[in-house]
Amino acid sequence: MNTEKIHEKFVSLYGEGGRTYSSAGRINLIGEHTDYNGGYVFPGAIDKCIVAEIKLNGTDKVRAFSLDYDASVEFGMAEEDKPSEQWACYLFGVIRETIKRGGVVKGFDTVFAGDVPLGAGLSSSAALESTFAFAINDIFENGIDKFTLAKIGQSTEHNYCGVKCGIMDQFASVFGRKGSLIRLNCKTLEYKYFPFDPKGYKLVLVDSCVKHELASSAYNARRESCERAAAAIKKNHPEVDFLSDCKRVWLDEVRDEISSEDFLRAEYVIGEVQRVLDVCDALERNDYEIVGEMMYQTHFGLSKLYEVSCEELDFLNKFARLNGVTGSRVMGGGFGGCTINLVKEELYSRFVSDVRAAFAEKFGHQPKIYDVVISDGARKLD
Ligand code: ADP
Ligand code: MG
Repeated sequence: MNTEKIHEKFVSLYGEGGRTYSSAGRINLIGEHTDYNGGYVFPGAIDKCIVAEIKLNGTDKVRAFSLDYDASVEFGMAEEDKPSEQWACYLFGVIRETIKRGGVVKGFDTVFAGDVPLGAGLSSSAALESTFAFAINDIFENGIDKFTLAKIGQSTEHNYCGVKCGIMDQFASVFGRKGSLIRLNCKTLEYKYFPFDPKGYKLVLVDSCVKHELASSAYNARRESCERAAAAIKKNHPEVDFLSDCKRVWLDEVRDEISSEDFLRAEYVIGEVQRVLDVCDALERNDYEIVGEMMYQTHFGLSKLYEVSCEELDFLNKFARLNGVTGSRVMGGGFGGCTINLVKEELYSRFVSDVRAAFAEKFGHQPKIYDVVISDGARKLD
């Protein structure tokens, strides 16, 4: 990230004396569609981030300049002051949610920019929210804990941006740590860091640049399937609240009571919860071949059991498999977006150029490639 440009613009608009903060986008290595089933996700912050320079201005207004959009806004901090620009609503929402939790926020000036690709599944919005949630907490010495900072970002999405997201993105952005992934239990919110330092491998995202319409209706249908399967199992095992509480054999007990479709959905989820645990074990042994194999199993499950893949993503996954990539799977809700790939360094250049050419030949447009390194999340830069 070019922080020089941000600083130059900041000084030209507001003078010296700003403080600089940053937070990051995120990947999720494994643990997909597990969040609403009370299972694990396994995200990490990445080396693509938002950077903001901030200084108090002695007024009750916020003046913000987005370097990437080359646009400025000014707004007050009361509920009715919501700006009309979408990008400014993230900032406004973070301020409002901080105030709702008893935090102090006074007028400030800011210039910010980022290099998290927008809408690619790397959560640029969480990076933006976490940067400002962290910065405001630090500047006004509100003493808000990190989990609440993540919740401030999540509530911003819910209440000011119309996105009913879970906690994973903001959690990863706030808690991210260089060289570590974080296993988050979505039921208890307990979390644990695991080392992720794949020497000799690269993490590469291949963005199909497609988004199929199906996504939101299919998402609701998947949730309902999972709830029905969990309810059926609960009759035999009252301690079950979520599919993540279920043993595989408990699902077999209700095979004749639920639809074959619900059965397949539940089979995927129960398998995926276990795969997260298996990947954590493998990481503690430094065994990236097993990590990769689990990623392929997840893709198979998402494609054939959970049925949230699409032609483009299956193509990318198969191409990776046939070209010696260690692990590959669709990342995110499905029906488009990226695959995440664990690629041996010696295969990297060839894989990237070949996958570009093969995808373009089949689908008529180039995929985008993003290399990512697991990095620190929300922090003060100077
Ligand atoms: P993503 O999957 O990347 O989070 P979203 O649609 O949730 O996609 O969030 C993208 C939005 O976040 C953008 O439309 C913009 O409003 C805001 N945003 C993200 N990064 C920046 C940036 N660098 N500058 C200004 N706004 C940004
Ligand atoms: Mg987002």
